[in-house]
Amino acid sequence: MDELFQSVRQALEGRGFEVYAAPDAAAARDRALSLISPESSVGVGGSMTVRQLGLAEMLESSGHAVWWHWTGAEDRAAVMENARHADVYLASANAVTRNGQLVNTDGTGNRVGALLHGPALVILIIGRNKLVDGGLSEALARIRREACPPNAKRLGLNTPCAHTGRCDEAHCGDDCMCRGTAILHRPMRSQRMAVILVDEALGY
Ligand code: SF4
Repeated sequence: MDELFQSVRQALEGRGFEVYAAPDAAAARDRALSLISPESSVGVGGSMTVRQLGLAEMLESSGHAVWWHWTGAEDRAAVMENARHADVYLASANAVTRNGQLVNTDGTGNRVGALLHGPALVILIIGRNKLVDGGLSEALARIRREACPPNAKRLGLNTPCAHTGRCDEAHCGDDCMCRGTAILHRPMRSQRMAVILVDEALGY
């Protein structure tokens, strides 16, 4: 855990987030599971990190109701709405600034909506690759450079970044994924927000 990792950790704590440091993905998965009570329903935002950890499958197999629009549900809109009303919400972040601001950009808004006004407990699992050594401009640049292009490509979207690997917002049309950005300076008043910082790269 290098200086940036420790600095971000302290900054998040100073802003009132409940912060846990995990040395690797397995420890992060264990920590997330330990925070979710047996009877809780769980909503999941679009997250390669959550997918990599296999958390949705583990929660389902242990009897939790899990709402995730990535698991082939037919009525995606209904699943997203159920996720927003679950007891717990699981997601990651697209970027975290050195001074502890969490930055997420969405195309649909289900994830940022749940982070701003959703489940009473939000758990964000964030790999060290999401930490930027700078402020909001560096965070937004990271999202356009490293988060969105591989996601757009994975989804087969017709965006400049999906085709070239580079953002070209001026020529980004109906498939644009970068429609709204939420910056969390502190946990929202109605929510408990646990941040699990992982000392390895996870997700985009
Ligand atoms: S604005 Fe468009 S081209 Fe740029 S990163 Fe977002 S989806 Fe890709």
